Amino acid sequence: MTHTPRHGAQPTGGEPPALEARALTKHFPIRRGWGMRTALVHAVEDVSLRLYGGTVTAVVGESGSGKSTLARMLARLIEPTSGQVLLGGAPAPHGGREYSSAVQLVLQDPFASLNPIHGLRYILGRPLKIHGTAQDSSADEAIKDLLRRVALTPAEQFIEKMPHELSGGQRQRVAIARALAVQPHVLLADEPVSMLDVSIRLGVLNLLADLRDREQLAILYVTHDIASARYLADTIAVMYAGRVVEAGPAVQLTDHPQHPYTQLLLSAAPDPDRAEAPSLAGAGSPPSLVNPPSGCRFHPRCPFAMPRCAEQLPPAFEVGPGQTSACWLHETSATVSANTVSPDTVEERTTSSATPETNAPEDQ
Ligand code: SF4
Repeated sequence: MTHTPRHGAQPTGGEPPALEARALTKHFPIRRGWGMRTALVHAVEDVSLRLYGGTVTAVVGESGSGKSTLARMLARLIEPTSGQVLLGGAPAPHGGREYSSAVQLVLQDPFASLNPIHGLRYILGRPLKIHGTAQDSSADEAIKDLLRRVALTPAEQFIEKMPHELSGGQRQRVAIARALAVQPHVLLADEPVSMLDVSIRLGVLNLLADLRDREQLAILYVTHDIASARYLADTIAVMYAGRVVEAGPAVQLTDHPQHPYTQLLLSAAPDPDRAEAPSLAGAGSPPSLVNPPSGCRFHPRCPFAMPRCAEQLPPAFEVGPGQTSACWLHETSATVSANTVSPDTVEERTTSSATPETNAPEDQ
């Protein structure tokens, strides 16, 4: 699958991705009593994606789709059951300082991720000190620079503040600044705005877009909100029950969704032209991952399900330039793709018409 990011930056010819997942799979054993393994949770199955500098790749799905497990495998917090993580084209080390200086994870909850007993000088100064990215004599200037990079200004005032003096959006900016302190190439943002007030989400999304464009970071944006993914991302991968079911350029995929699950997600996304609040309730619920459905995992909820859907796993069919859909409905009209989520094909940058749940001013 190939396409070029819509904001203009392109994966440079021949350069390896900043971070790559190859066929990552994660099965969690469930143990009951005396450590006996009784079952497996099939959380992630055979997911491949490439993250390039200067691009945002969104992984979208409901709770239980495996998107956060995927982010944690990429952060090396969880060992995959099988598959490989490559950093700059080489097998990635199993965590440690070398890896965390290249790949940083930003978590969902900005209230829990900052230690309330320390001020911002300590919170931001500590990673600078541990990773040796600033000398003691210049630490204050480096901290103020970090604060400015995440638009917490005047930095001279913010450096003196405690976490409880900040809004949720400002705390998430501090969490992002802390991640930037080690000068990473890759930012893994796991639902970074979902715990923030709707009124301040847009500011954090715009900050991530700015870091992509200005600092050429490779960003993975994990979210349940496909409208915000369209707003921010160059590429979207839609996950259902541990598998990528559709992937492609963000605007193209959301304008022309091919997989029935993507169509369902979009039908439940906020739409200013629709009077009623959208919901996935009534559209069934995700399956148990202990005994996931055979064949296409979406078949118990799919309005187009055919007998073969319960028996055979559909491959990823090429359904548009750089767009794939794992659905038997495309079998006659499309060719099978390698099924790697990767921003390599051309898509013009367009103004997003979908409104994320974030149509409000900055959180400053
Ligand atoms: Fe629906 Fe079958 Fe396509 Fe799965 S493969 S999304 S069940 S039509």
